[in-house]
Amino acid sequence: MSDKLTADRFAYESNLAAAGSYRAHRSAFWPPSRSYALACLDLADTTPALGDGFPAALAALKTAVEAEWQRVKELGIPARRRFNEPESVAEAMREVAKHLPGEDDRRAAELRAHAVQEGYDDAILQELATLQEEFTVVAGQISTWYGKDVRGLPTAFGCRADETRQRLVTEALAAPDEVAARLGRLHADLRVGELPAFGAAELFFMAGEGNLHPKHIAYFLPEDEGVKYSPFKKTYYFANTHHALLESVSVPLAEQHLRLDARFDPAAPRCAAIPTLGVLSHELGHFVHRPATDFKELNAADRWASVVLQEVAADVFGILILADVWAPRLGIDPADCVAYYLAECLRYVDRGLGRFPDSDGMFLQLSYLTQLGALEPVDENGPRLAGETETVLAGLRSLARVLADSLLASDAQRSVRLHQRYGPTTAAPLSSLVEILRQEPLKSIEYTQEHLHATGTSAS
Ligand SMILES: [Zn+2]
Repeated sequence: MSDKLTADRFAYESNLAAAGSYRAHRSAFWPPSRSYALACLDLADTTPALGDGFPAALAALKTAVEAEWQRVKELGIPARRRFNEPESVAEAMREVAKHLPGEDDRRAAELRAHAVQEGYDDAILQELATLQEEFTVVAGQISTWYGKDVRGLPTAFGCRADETRQRLVTEALAAPDEVAARLGRLHADLRVGELPAFGAAELFFMAGEGNLHPKHIAYFLPEDEGVKYSPFKKTYYFANTHHALLESVSVPLAEQHLRLDARFDPAAPRCAAIPTLGVLSHELGHFVHRPATDFKELNAADRWASVVLQEVAADVFGILILADVWAPRLGIDPADCVAYYLAECLRYVDRGLGRFPDSDGMFLQLSYLTQLGALEPVDENGPRLAGETETVLAGLRSLARVLADSLLASDAQRSVRLHQRYGPTTAAPLSSLVEILRQEPLKSIEYTQEHLHATGTSAS
């Protein structure tokens, strides 16, 4: 067996040394790990009944994108974010587009098919910004995990706007002054920028790189397609994928390794809004800054630490916005938000260290809270982190102020020291937790898409 397959996913230094070097990696599973535990999410349940030809058209798109994925492995990417043989994918996209019910849906899919062939231009991006999509179909060299390969890989996905969750997004964002006021009380110099569009959706189709392990719960377009400066920016958040990950990974880990004054239950109505708002608040957290915030110096000093700390800031400001501002206004218990947040910390840390900046970032937060005493390592049928909502929130406010005076103050030296002291380099505070996670397989979701290959059957 190659040493890769026996790799310790928590071996921080050696994992970090290999980050971004997986261009030739072909396995469906990354990072390399001795074993994986899978839960299945059947995308047939969310695939809309749009006629007999629809699943067949999706199947053809899947085949075309996967053939391109193979070609990239053989030949490389011909030009930045372009396909070797774009025609077959573009043609398959146009076939899928024909089945979409809305004029805007069809137009958007056709524009994206054109972009697959010719690349994006300003006219396409401008027009996409005006379209109101219910069904979105995307194909391209889409960003994969930062620690795996910083260039994109062929991916296609289809999702449907989720009106109920979208209303939550609108409601949460309805009082931006409250968020600004809360941030001002943490640190007088903090500002929040304008959040790009956030589309809550249900995923019904995934092909290519995005169909491998682990799964993304959101894509940010067109940036994840390689277009940096676009007037059209939108997060597509897959609520069903996130729900499956919460049920099969985060919650079991929380049951085993946390002892809090609340339990996050993804099936309970009182918790139903939290995952969407949690991801939304993380996105908004990325836009919290000070007038002089600039990551350039830190990027030059330590690029990995910079990405890790930016994720930490998004998490910390995000959970504080969720628990301190949105939850009271929307009638949600902040204790459930904190329980959700800590369960998600465990899910990310469980993916390993030195592989994913956001996992290292979650480790840093748990380590900070533990070193501060807001979480206490205890042994109750195995190692657990024990804590109470108010204490954890106080610890998070403390970390928010530290971030405001280091990362967001563009102080590279202080930022590097923060990353050293609380990041995975200093493993001791969480060593017993990591020790027990190491013995368990890495967990992921498999998308079941058997229905795509059935022709002549109708979902009706
Ligand atoms: Zn982020």
